[in-house]
Amino acid sequence: MAKRDYYDVLGVAKNASESEIKKAYRKLALKFHPDKNPDDKGAEEKFKEAAEAYEVLSNQQKKQRYDQFGHDGMRGGPGGPGGAGGMNMDDIFSQFGDIFGGFGGGGGFGGFGGGGGRGGARRVRGTNLRIKVKLNLEDIVNGVQKRIKVLKLVQADGVKYSDCATCGGSGQVRRVTNTFLGQMQTASTCPTCNGTGKTVHSKPKDADQNGLKRQEEVVTIDIPKGVEDGMTLKMTGKGNAGPFGGMPGDLLVVIEEEEHEVLKRNGKNLHYDLYINFIDAALGASAEIPLVEGKAKIKIEPGTQSGKIVRLRGKGLPSVESYGNGDLLANINVWTPQTLSSEERKTLEKLRESENFIPSPSSRDKTFFQKMKEMFS
Ligand SMILES: [Zn+2]
Repeated sequence: MAKRDYYDVLGVAKNASESEIKKAYRKLALKFHPDKNPDDKGAEEKFKEAAEAYEVLSNQQKKQRYDQFGHDGMRGGPGGPGGAGGMNMDDIFSQFGDIFGGFGGGGGFGGFGGGGGRGGARRVRGTNLRIKVKLNLEDIVNGVQKRIKVLKLVQADGVKYSDCATCGGSGQVRRVTNTFLGQMQTASTCPTCNGTGKTVHSKPKDADQNGLKRQEEVVTIDIPKGVEDGMTLKMTGKGNAGPFGGMPGDLLVVIEEEEHEVLKRNGKNLHYDLYINFIDAALGASAEIPLVEGKAKIKIEPGTQSGKIVRLRGKGLPSVESYGNGDLLANINVWTPQTLSSEERKTLEKLRESENFIPSPSSRDKTFFQKMKEMFS
C-alpha cells in the first residue's frame, strides 16, 4: 500500500508551524488511541500512521529530508537518518512524554498522561558501553574478528524485586487538586523508583541499588573491511543491562587505526614515498613498492623526474561505503647524494659540462597542481 503524505495524514498545510503540527497530532492521537478504541484495527493503523507522520514532521532534519525527497528520503541507508517506518507501540508511547507532558497537567487524559506510557511504569534502558579497538592496515584490508574483554553491568544473580511502595508499581504518582474548574489530576514520575514501578527487595552484596553488578565478558566483534579511524560500530543490545528488566544498552566500538610505518592513508588511497637515485632516474630501473600485504615491482622509465606519481590501481584500501579498492600512489623522489668520494666528484664534474645536465622546463614532469587534480579525481 502506498504511504499517504505525512501532511495529509495530520491534516496540516506544508507550511504549518511546529505548534500546529503538534496540535494536529495530539488531536489524532487522542481520537485513535488504543485505550479508547479497543480491538479496533482500523483505529490502531490510523494511530500508528499519525505517530509516524509526527515523528518525521516534528524533527527538523527528518522534515527537511521528507520535504525534499518524500517517502524515499525516509529509508534509512547506512549512516543515514533512520526511517520512521519501523515504529512500534513503545516508540509511540515514549513520544507522548514530549507531546502530552506538561500539557495542562494531564487533566482529562485518562490513563496515559505524563510521559509514562500506557502501562504506567517505564522501562529504563541500560547505558551504552564504549570501547576502543586498535587495527592495523592488514585488519582494515581484510576485515577482522576481534575478541575483546569488556567490563559491563549485568543482572546479578539472586536479586528479588518488589513493586514500589510509593507508587504501587505504576511508576507514577498522581495528585488530585481542586481548582475552580473542577478537579485536576496531575501525574508525575515516581521519585522513589524513578518511574520503573519496581524496587530491589533483596540483593547479593556485590550488586548495586538496581540489582546490577559489573562483570568481565568477552565479546566477539566482527569488524568489516574498510573501516576508518574514528568510526563507531554499534552492537545493539550488547551494552550494560537495563535495570528491572529494561532493554540493555548498546556496545559502541570505536575504531583506532595504527599508523603504518611507510604507507600513509588518505581515504581509500595509500601513499608511498619512493626514493630513487638520480642515476636510476636517468637510466631507468625497477623498484619495489611495499603493499599492505606483499610487494609490487614497478618500472622506472629512463628520464624519470622527481615528483612523478605512479598509480597502482586497486592496491589501496576497501571502503565500507563503496565497492572496489582505492589505489596506491607511489610518489617518486630523486635522491641526491650528500657525500661524494673525490673520484665520484671528478666523474660528476665531468658530467656537469654536458648539455644534457641542464634542467629543461619544457621536458619536466607535470605540474604539482595537475598531479593533485589527478590524484583526487
Ligand atoms: Zn514508584
